[in-house]
Amino acid sequence: MHVARPHVDESPTDPDIAAVLFDRDTIAARVKSLAQRIADDWRAYTEAEHHAADLTLVPILTGSFIFVADLIRCLPMRLQIRLLSISSYPGPATTSRGPQVQAGLGNLPASLEGAHLLLVDDILDSGRTLAMAVDLLRQRRPASLRTAVLLRKDRPEARAFPVDYVCFDVPDVFVAGYGLDYNDYYRNLPDIVTLRPEVFSPSAPHENAPC
Ligand code: 5GP
Ligand code: MG
Repeated sequence: MHVARPHVDESPTDPDIAAVLFDRDTIAARVKSLAQRIADDWRAYTEAEHHAADLTLVPILTGSFIFVADLIRCLPMRLQIRLLSISSYPGPATTSRGPQVQAGLGNLPASLEGAHLLLVDDILDSGRTLAMAVDLLRQRRPASLRTAVLLRKDRPEARAFPVDYVCFDVPDVFVAGYGLDYNDYYRNLPDIVTLRPEVFSPSAPHENAPC
């Protein structure tokens, strides 16, 4: 049975948006072309290795869940998902408190021997989260390991970090939407945005807030 849903034009969080950095159509187009590159590289790699392998995506939760959901629906190869939960920004923090592995290791097996991994994160900032995740995965002896991020911040540490796939480069400001949160809100915004300074604190503008 078809259930009609009310059409929602405005969200109560819309007034909190300072600027849209990438709108939903731009994101969809970029995710599709990134998937095409990943698929082309994968085809070349498996042909060169003369074997039909499966790909295992390892999304870092929570921020990458929307990106990875869109990405995998554009990927044609046989693939599996193993979740890894790492958090650096507890509660209302907007500066990293250092990456912490959450809830054990998600459903990451003790050995990934022979697996071909694609580690996926929402945003590359200092690089500490990806470095920690790469370490955890390498200990499990995969056959190959590549990395993909939705966003890479325009700061020296992020640009210096070796990463195979980047969807967008962004200014060094705090961003939200399309899976990325502030205090666990705003993940459902379809666009990637900056937030108004009042959101972070009604009295003092946030240090990372855009001018
Ligand atoms: P890194 O460890 O590279 O400093 O930070 C990466 C993690 O911090 C990301 O996975 C993301 O969860 C969080 N993070 C870094 N910058 C931002 C940002 O601008 N907005 C949001 N929402 N999260 C961020
Ligand atoms: Mg994250």
